[in-house]
Amino acid sequence: MDDNCIFCKIVAGQIPCHKLYEDGRVLAFLDVGPLSPGHTLVIPKHHAVTLDDLPDEDAAAIGAALPKLVKAVKSATGTQACNVLQNNGEIAGQVVMHVHFHIIPKPAADAQADAGAAGTGLGIGWPAGKLDDATAGELVKKITVALD
Ligand code: 5GP
Ligand code: ZN
Repeated sequence: MDDNCIFCKIVAGQIPCHKLYEDGRVLAFLDVGPLSPGHTLVIPKHHAVTLDDLPDEDAAAIGAALPKLVKAVKSATGTQACNVLQNNGEIAGQVVMHVHFHIIPKPAADAQADAGAAGTGLGIGWPAGKLDDATAGELVKKITVALD
């Protein structure tokens, strides 16, 4: 536990949350600043700042919990779509420095007009480039070496 971490304090029960799910390694609760109704946070109980610092056992537990939480959130909110988002590092939009996955329901287009203040889900900017073979070759070499 990190004494200065708000999510560690939620895990420890020192700060309340609207809990949805808990097992030995994972906690899920509603986000206090939802982008749409049902916006959920899924966190490891273990404190790690970014995903690459998370021990395998905690990563596996989160991986097992996510599909059932996505299924339940979609079913309960009546949405057919959602975004699962995981920000790593301040420049990537991470504000709370404890690993967390967002499950953000995406209301259907015709429901978005009615959603109003409840939120229309995640808006995505996707400034795609084009991958050339030389760059791809270099990246494959470097990343596969880094995986070893
Ligand atoms: P990030 O930008 O780090 O990926 O997202 C952090 C999220 O945590 C935000 O969506 C924010 O609303 C949520 N959040 C911050 N503090 C609290 C809190 O004390 N309780 C809950 N339930 N959510 C929080
Ligand atoms: Zn923490």
